This record gives sequence, C-alpha cells and structure tokens, in this order.
Amino acid sequence: MAKNKIYIIDVTNRDGVQTSRLGLAKLEKTMINLFLNEMGIFQSEFGFPVTRHETNYLNANIKLAKMGVLKPIILEGWIRAIPEDVEKATKLTKVEHLNLSISTSEQMIQGKFKGKFSSRDVIRVMTKAVDLAKKKRIKTIGVNAEDASRTEMAYLIKFARAAKEHGADRIRYCDTLGFDNPFSIYERVKKLATAIKMPIELHCHNDLGMVVATSLAGAKAAIDSGVDAYINTTINGMGERAGNADLVSVLLALEKSSGFKDKYVLDKRINLSKAWKIAKYASYAFGVPIPINQPGVGANAFAHESGIHADGALKDRRNYELYDFEELGRGESEIIETGREITAGEYSGIKGFRNVYDKLEIAFKDKKEATKILELVRYANVHTQKPLTKDELKFIAKYPEIARQIFTMSP
Ligand SMILES: [Zn+2]
Repeated sequence: MAKNKIYIIDVTNRDGVQTSRLGLAKLEKTMINLFLNEMGIFQSEFGFPVTRHETNYLNANIKLAKMGVLKPIILEGWIRAIPEDVEKATKLTKVEHLNLSISTSEQMIQGKFKGKFSSRDVIRVMTKAVDLAKKKRIKTIGVNAEDASRTEMAYLIKFARAAKEHGADRIRYCDTLGFDNPFSIYERVKKLATAIKMPIELHCHNDLGMVVATSLAGAKAAIDSGVDAYINTTINGMGERAGNADLVSVLLALEKSSGFKDKYVLDKRINLSKAWKIAKYASYAFGVPIPINQPGVGANAFAHESGIHADGALKDRRNYELYDFEELGRGESEIIETGREITAGEYSGIKGFRNVYDKLEIAFKDKKEATKILELVRYANVHTQKPLTKDELKFIAKYPEIARQIFTMSP
C-alpha cells in the first residue's frame, strides 16, 4: 500500500458558483463550508478574496474557523497568480491559504493574453506572486496551471518547478476543458509528478463525460510517483459548462471501485454518511434538482423494479447494490408538512417567527433577543430568496454576529 494519500479539496464555493445562470447566497456558501467540515473534507475553496462582495462573508467564515466552529477544514481563497491580487487579497481579508491561478497553454497565452504576456512572462509573474504570498505569510500556496491538459509538457514542468523553487506547496493540474481522458491524464501527471516531486491537485471538468475517471486516474498517477494527490470536487458536480467532478461520485469511486482502495488511501477523516445531507442541501441552494440516476444520491440509486432485479435485491442486496444506502446517510424517513405551515421570510412578523423557532425548540431569552434574530432572518431571506432551512435558522440563532457580518454588504 502506498504511503501517500488522496485528499479532497471541494471547490463548490468557487467553481460551483461560477456556473452560468446559477449562484449561491453568502449564507448558503457558509452552510456548505459547515457541511463540508462535518463531512471531514480536507479543504474548501471558499471564494474570491479580491471580490468586494465576498469580503465580509470570507472574514466571517475565517472567524468561525478561529472560533473552532469551522475546524479542522482549511479555508482557501482563489486569486489570479499576479502580485496585485496577492496584495489585495491580504489587505481585504484575513485569508491564510491561497491558490494562485494563471493560464499555461499556448492556446490561452496567445488567445487570452494577446501578446500582453509571453510564456516566459507567465512564469515571471507567477513566481513574483508566490514570493509576495510567502512574504505575507500565507500558510499554504497552491499554484494553478490553467489549461494544464493542453500545455506542452516541458513547459508545464518548467512552470511547476519554478513554483516549487519559490515556495509553492502544491501544483494544481487543471483539465480546464475536460480534454484529458483517464489514460492521457495518467501519463501526463506521472511525468509531471516524477519531474517535480511535489503534491499535485487534480482539477478536472466534465465536457467529455469522463470527469470522475480522469480525477481518479490523475490521483493514481500522483501516488504512483510518490506524492500526495488532492482531487478537486464540487457538490452534485456543479461547475462551469458540463461541471466538475461530483464529490459523492468521486468518494464512491475511490472507496468502492474494483481494487482501488486496497492500494490508494483516501483521507481517513471523510465521513460518507453526510453525503445525502450535503447533496440535498446544495440542490436546494442552487435550485437544481438531483438527477434521478445520480450515483449514490439520485432517487433511483437504490430503486429496483424489474422482476429479476427486485427479487435479487430482496434476497441479498449485494446482488444488485455495490454499497448500502445507509452508508450515504439515506434511509431515514423525512417529515413533510402537509397542513398549515408558518415560514420565516423577509416580511415576517414576530408572532409567526416565534412559531417557527418554537418548532425548532429554540427559545429566546427575551423579546429583545427575539426581535434581533428576526431582523437577521429577514435579511437572510433577502439574500437567499427562498424559505430558510432548519439548519440555516439554527445557524442564525446560534451565531447572530457572524450572520450579521455575512449579510452586510455595501457596494
Ligand atoms: Zn474549473
């Protein structure tokens, strides 16, 4: 068994929210960080430290980390690999972990920078940004090679080596367009990891429908070369165009596919039984239903109808199920209110509001406190524009000052 491990970096709060037509409120991003932490995920790429409307949300979440609420998950911000972004990120936020991103393929250097940066400039600017991040005492520095899968290998190695020499901790191999297949990514990551001997992140996209397989093959290449692997995922595979690697599918593939986990070790902290909860929440927050046939969490993932299958599954579940629904936190019945229901929203009054919290068995010490929480709940609903979930309501009541900071925005 290899001594190196596979870790998960979830990028829902960065790549997921970049999805065209979709987004998350800052409260929803916060809940996702909390759920990822509960699930034992190593790191959350929690946002954009140079984007002004993220500032309060990011700082509030860093505060939650300091309070021990968002712990041990690592909260890391995404910026461009230019010194200006490092400067701004460290000025606006208290962020301690950063990933610095820049395009490395000839296609993008020519097609995006249009003569502004040559491939040599890309390395020069990136190393300057890494130097500055070091100087600012950033604890983990990841350097992202955007479009790595279409980058000439010799240049990619040169780029990664320069990042390492300047103190970067990891290289993110970005299959930005989902161009790799499991065989090509294995070959390329093997070459890269063997040459630079530093941990590799696999950031893959699903344009050709292979995202989970390429993520796994890339991780295998890193481990086979003697370095740790960090797979980038998003909840329900949300992300640009055809999306990123679905968190639950990646975990299932690592744990349940033929012979894989005997040789390749996944971060032991991961708790798969939170899968159902996190997938359902992300679906609600994004307003995107979970496909009926989604691995693990789809409505049909454990449904059997045809005669032979139903009979077989009833006799012994292993006949037609690779893993148990209980392992994913499924199987408990859920209560849906079918009669009168009082919800809390942006125009709620104190009576209805107290009824909502009574049902959650949360009591306020006096009217003043109740009024304060009500006002925050109204603001929360202004942001989310849909009924608040029980977990959101509980969070606001438990951490009102943090909630206030998250809701505060002044353009
Ligand atoms: Zn991406």
